[in-house]
Formats: sequence, C-alpha cells, structure tokens
Amino acid sequence: MGLSVTPPSGFRDCLPDSCLRRAGAAAAISKVYRSFGFMPIATPAVESLEVLMGKGAGENEKLIFKILKRGEKLAESLEGGELADLGLRFDLTLPLARFYSRYAGQLPRPFKAFQIGPVWRAERAQKGRYREFYQCDADIIGSESLLCEVEVIHAISSAFLALKIPQPAVIINDRSLLHAVLAQAQVPQEKAGQVCVLLDKLDKVEREEVLAELAPLVGAAPVRTLESALMSDQPDLDRLRAADAAALARLLEIQKTLAGLLEPGCVKISPSLARGLDYYTGTVFEFRLPGLSGSLGGGGRYDRLTEKFGGAPVPACGGSLGFERLMLLLEESSESQAPPGPDACVTVFSKELRSLSIAAARKLRAAGWETDLYAGTGKLKAQFKYADARHAKLAVIIGPEEAAGGQVKVKDLKTGEERLLSLEELRSRAVAGE
Ligand code: AMP
Repeated sequence: MGLSVTPPSGFRDCLPDSCLRRAGAAAAISKVYRSFGFMPIATPAVESLEVLMGKGAGENEKLIFKILKRGEKLAESLEGGELADLGLRFDLTLPLARFYSRYAGQLPRPFKAFQIGPVWRAERAQKGRYREFYQCDADIIGSESLLCEVEVIHAISSAFLALKIPQPAVIINDRSLLHAVLAQAQVPQEKAGQVCVLLDKLDKVEREEVLAELAPLVGAAPVRTLESALMSDQPDLDRLRAADAAALARLLEIQKTLAGLLEPGCVKISPSLARGLDYYTGTVFEFRLPGLSGSLGGGGRYDRLTEKFGGAPVPACGGSLGFERLMLLLEESSESQAPPGPDACVTVFSKELRSLSIAAARKLRAAGWETDLYAGTGKLKAQFKYADARHAKLAVIIGPEEAAGGQVKVKDLKTGEERLLSLEELRSRAVAGE
C-alpha cells in the first residue's frame, strides 16, 4: 500500500483552474486596496512564539501550530524545557504590529498597509473552515481618526463588489460600549472575557443556547439584562447611550459616514458583537451575508498592540477579508466559469521541424499571446486532444508542407475552421489581441 495522497485534514491542494481563479480574485482585491492608497507589505509565515503568544492571541493561542526547536537546542529541551520556539502565524495583524514596530521610522504616518497571505490555525476542519487559509488584510496604523474605520470598511466592501459579491451587511460595535453594558448588567469584570466568547456565538447558534450557557456563568438577573440590552433586533439606543455615550456617538458617526458610501441600510449596530481576538480596544466590525454561517471578514481597532514590542502605543485599525469563504461564494455563483485556456497551442510535427514550432511559440508569446508549446511525445491526433483539453482557442500546426511554404496552419478549435497564414500574419493577430 502506497502512502495516502490526501493532504492532512484542513489542508487543501489546489488544481490549476482553482489556482487561476484564486490568483484572479487576489489580484482584484489588491487592485481595490491599492486604489484606496493601501501599500503592499509581506511578512514571514513563521514568527517567534513570543510574538504570537500572550497579548493579542486570545482564543487563537490554543490553535497555534508550533515548530519544534532544531538540532542541539531540541536535544537540550528534551531533558526539560520548552520544546518549541517558533510558530506559524494565525493571523496577519500580529505580524503587522511587529513589522510596524520595526520600520515605523521609515514609514509614512498614518501608514496604510495591505497584506494577502496564508495563515494557519489548528481548528477542527469543516466547509469554509480550514487549517490553512488566506486572509486579505487592510490596516491603517498611527491614527485615531474614525476615517480609519471608514476607509477600511469601505475598501473591504469595495473588494466584495469588485468580485460581484452582493454587498454584505456590515455589523459594527465598540468594545468599550460592550464592556459598559456588561458592567451595567452587573457581570463581574473577571467574567467579561468568557461572556464575550459566548456572545460571539450568537451568529452561529440559537440565542437560547447562548442564554443557557450564560446563566450558570453570571446568574439569572444579569442574563435577563444582557438579553434585553444586547440581543433585540433593534438596539435600544437610549440604554446604550446611558452605558457609554462617547462610544455610541462614535459608532453612529461611522454608520452615518458609511451610509453615504455603501448600499443604504447595510451598516448595522449590534451591541453584542465582541469578536474573539483580545487585541481589539474600540470599534469592532464584521461582514456577513444572509444564510452564510460565520463571517466573510471582520476587524476593528487595536490601539495597544504595538506596546508588546516596546515603545509607545500606536493607534491602529484594520480588517481582514476571509478569502476562502469568498472563493466558495464565487465558485457557487455563475461568475465562476472555468478560466479561459491559452490563446494558442503550438503542436510539434516531428523532431526535424521542432525548432520551427519553438520559434513560432516564442514569437506568439512575445506578441502577448498565452501560448502552450506541446511538450509531450504524442502524434498530431494526441496533440489536438491535448489542445482541446486545455481549452486552447487555436492550434498551430507546422508540418512539412507549411514549412516548405513558409507558413503555419491555424485551426480554430471551436469552429474547426483551418487557415494558412504566414507566421508574421499570425503574429499581427496576436499583437492586435484578436
Ligand atoms: P479572524 O482573524 O478570526 O477575525 O477572521 C477573519 C476572517 O477570516 C473571517 O471572517 C473568516 O472569513 C476568515 N476565517 C477565519 N477562520 C477561518 C478558517 N479556519 N478557515 C477559513 N477562513 C477563516
């Protein structure tokens, strides 16, 4: 029995069509982010465990893929001590905070950055939830202005629209407001974190289930207050104002500013939105589509994350577009036809005439056509089959007769029509993009 060819659970192979679709979507997202003035950055897959763990990791700390120490250091640690010293990043925000702390002096302020890349979490895998997945983050570091929230939410929403995904609902809240409501409901401060984790489940499980889990944690009376303050369809603005007027005013201002930019009514205040990650300090937001469990993206303000790297706290706000769920949506929609094949597939008639095929392919590529030179050993029939399977638009044939006449035969693989052309004529068609 050979080895299993299936990747480990939660990890996926990517076939060519899917790779092309993913590359196209990532390019479209980059284009939108760049159009908003976000600049690309890249950080490594691996960070030290000190960077990944502790402040900022929250629930994700338990999901880190840790990397064993190597060589002698591992041997020493086997006698006692920490076996791992590095880990795979579980998001792009902690690496960004490290990156910014390192390069702040060379970067404009505020610094608008975007990063698209894979992250890893040891989660239980299911549809739309993987152990290796891509995130597309846009962040603004170095400003307290609520324009940061507006720009980040607007940019991510525009990326969805560029990919023809309907505008998702944007759910917004503020961590201070949530904590003020918890205090109002007499939730002990040391239980606030656990309560937030339970509240975060509201978009995935029934409200009754969340209430049943809250009751033993905080008691019956606080649960009733939390239910009426946080879980009604229309937020009770007076109650929220009494809890934290400044935070509510900021949320309303963000909502009002975005109302002029996004589809009417799509930005909603939801006072129960917590978002698990413990680095958020103010606004938090999530992108949701009806019928889709979990979120399509999310983010918030994290004004203290750079403190971890020494130096003064720097205000920051960012959001992450969840690439995998977006790809699932694209694949389910009619937009996702198979990506087009090459413009031309150049066949190879014989070893003697091979150099003519190589030269023709080179010329067409230089003229801008995606050109696949048949690299197999089959006869012409097999080569046509190959060109069909590749969904090539044209097959180019250079046999002895064409070679003698200084021409190439071009077969339209859709209509079957054949024409004799000089290579120069074919090149002109390629240049014209016909
Ligand atoms: P988070 O970093 O947890 O705030 O997640 C940001 C976005 O990444 C979510 O809204 C999801 O769309 C996506 N995401 C989070 N976890 C996973 C996962 N395990 N697999 C695929 N996408 C995920």
